[in-house]
Formats: sequence, structure tokens, C-alpha cells
Amino acid sequence: MRIFEEMESEVRGYVRSFPTVFDVAKGSELFDENGTRYIDFFAGAGVLNYGHNHPMITEALIEHLQHNGIVHGLDKATIAKRSFLQKFRDTILAPRNLQYKVQFTGPTGTNAVETALKLARMVKRRSNVIAFTNGYHGLTMGALAATGNYFYKDESYGSRSNTAFMPFDGFLGEDVDTIDYLRKFLSDGSSGVDLPAAIIVETVQGEGGVNVARIEWLKKLEQLCREFDILLIIDDIQVGNGRTGTFFSFERAGIHPDMVTLSKSIGGGLPMALLLMRPELDQWQPGEHTGTFRGNNLAFIAATQALSFWDNDDLSKAVEYKGKLIREELKKIAGEFPEFEPKVRGLGMIWGLEMSPGVASDTSAEAFTRGMVIETSGADDQVLKFLPSLLIEEDLLHEGLGIIRDSLQALSE
Ligand code: PMP
Repeated sequence: MRIFEEMESEVRGYVRSFPTVFDVAKGSELFDENGTRYIDFFAGAGVLNYGHNHPMITEALIEHLQHNGIVHGLDKATIAKRSFLQKFRDTILAPRNLQYKVQFTGPTGTNAVETALKLARMVKRRSNVIAFTNGYHGLTMGALAATGNYFYKDESYGSRSNTAFMPFDGFLGEDVDTIDYLRKFLSDGSSGVDLPAAIIVETVQGEGGVNVARIEWLKKLEQLCREFDILLIIDDIQVGNGRTGTFFSFERAGIHPDMVTLSKSIGGGLPMALLLMRPELDQWQPGEHTGTFRGNNLAFIAATQALSFWDNDDLSKAVEYKGKLIREELKKIAGEFPEFEPKVRGLGMIWGLEMSPGVASDTSAEAFTRGMVIETSGADDQVLKFLPSLLIEEDLLHEGLGIIRDSLQALSE
């Protein structure tokens, strides 16, 4: 660990919750350099929906490299890129009757968010954006402005500009509809809330503590956007790619966003991010929004393989089945430890166990000593976040949930 302490700890911005050095990983199991095994309930915050080193993905990558396939293809059409686009159109967009143009935006999710916010402002000729409390969209300046957690925002960054925040669904209680408030603000010229270019939202807030927006709320949000000519951006970076049971998380609400950001698992484990936009929104001048590492060809190879999990509905069914299993187990666990005031919430295979202050972080640390990798989320790290690979085997899922129960038991003694 010394090199990390000497060098990486100089960069204090990173979280380092897992004090070991990892070596290899397969599926939902990680092994450190001493051979200690850990069950992965974190899945790279949603990058590894198909697990670590799936043979279908690694074999395609090896073959591409052995053929001297193009790895970096800036400003060029390549076979790998074409294959990805065809697969994405045929497997994801066409069966859902969705027509979007695809813009590769850079390697990481934040790049897709930046692109969406910039394009929305340009197209609508308005500079304001509305986002939601506890939302997370990235930490570079544009995306940070839309991230609704002030832990990340120092006054000095100047990153609060042009963004108004509304409480996310449920944050003012079940009976208060924040969309109605927003409608009033937007209709009343004296409210101080200017007409925004876009509203950006996660249908399930991942980093914000696993907060699930209700279907009716999402439908009303879409309707509001149509009424006021506002672009609706769904940030599906964490809960897209099947995490909630359908490829896009907004499918359950039957809405049709103007733009969608995708990253994490879209690259099959490799860095990739893209923006989907309604075709008429593509109003860029050539070269107006670009970047050296947008659309990496190795990521296209991995991503094309990853999309084949969507050739049929087996994965959706598996997510539904395992999601139910997680929910039922978590409810039982919650019932066993009332002293921690547990609350269970989630959808598909993203689940949160909210507990009294400090308990989620302590459970994560305790679980690590028992061979598990799991992280917390929420503004105060009060939520233990369950985000295993969608392909996790049932016995590993049970074993992992058993580790959580044992960890809570140890904490309660
Ligand atoms: N949006 C959402 C919903 C996210 O969960 C994240 C990452 N946790 C981001 C944007 C930013 O993505 P990245 O860290 O890849 O830049």
C-alpha cells in the first residue's frame, strides 16, 4: 500500500474505502494480491452490469488486438464503430421505436452530461437549467452546476450559476407534488425562475441515496417540459443499461426524453459515454463539440458484445427475479435490526438500505473485512447501496446478503 500512501494520497480527492490491492476479478468476485476473495456488490458504481471479465467481452477484445484492429480512431469511421452503431440501432433503439442520433462525447459520464447541457442551451438559446436536489451528474464545472449536493460545491468554484434546484420526487413528502410547484414558478413571471433550456433528472438517484421517482411524477415532468417547450434530459448513466430491469430506466414510465446520457456499462467495462438526442437537436457545426478520446475503438468492441445481452428478454427477467430476491432479503434484514432504523428502497437491481447516522459506512467497512465490496450513497452516506452485477449468481447474492446480515449483527453487539 505504500506507493498509494506516498503518491495517490497526495491527491486527496479520491475516496479509498477498500484498503487492499486488487489483482484479478471474474464475474462478481474480486481477489486481492494475497488471494483474498471479495464478493462485488458495487460493480464499479454500475460499470460492471455484466460482471468482471465476461469471456464474451474479453475474447472479442483479444481478437481485435491480435488483428491489429484500430484502437484510436479520432475523426475516422471504423469497423468497430459501425458495428456498435448497427447493434445499438437494431437491438436497443428499433425494438423500442426510438429515434435518436448518437454522439460519442468522451470517455466518462460527465462528458455526456456536459454535452447535453451545452447542446440544450445552444438549441433553445436559453442559459438556465433545472435540476433536482440530491441529483448527481458529475463534478466538472457544467455538470457540477446541475449536481444537487452541496458537499461537492465550494462557493469559490462559481459552479452554482444558471441552475435552479427543485426537490426530487418524495423529498417534500408523498403528498407534495414538486412538479405542480415548478409549473407555478414557471407560469408566474415574478417567481424569479426563468424559463430553462432543459430539465435534467435521474429516474432513480443513484449517488443521491437510491431515490426512486414515481411513474406519475416522471410522466408529469415530461408533460411540463412539453407545455413550456423545455428539453427533457434523462441522465441514465448509473441506472440505464438494464439496472432497473429495462435497458433504459425511463421505459417503465413510457416517456420519451429529448436527450439521454449513457455511460458506465454501455462500454462493457471500458470507458465510453454517449449522448442520445432527438435528430432535430443535432444543430452542432462540424467540429464545434469534439474531444480526442471520444469513441474509443476498444470500448466499441466491448460495448457491441455487451449489447448482445439484449438480444432477448432473459436479462430483464433475471433482473426482475434477483431484484425481488434482494428486496425480500433486505426487508427481512431490516426487520432484524430495528435499532438502526432501517428503510429499504429501490427498483430492479439497485437497492438502498438507509440507516441511522454512521451505520451504513460502518457496515461497508465491516463487510469488507468479511470479504465484500459495497459502498454507501446519499448526502450523508446514510444509505448502503446494493449494486451487484446483473449477472450475479444466486448463491453469491445470498452469500453477499448474508455478509451484510453478519456485519450488522457484529455492529449491534
Ligand atoms: N451521472 C450519474 C447519474 C452518475 O451516477 C455519474 C457517476 N456516478 C455521473 C453522471 C458521472 O459519471 P462519471 O463519473 O463517469 O464522469
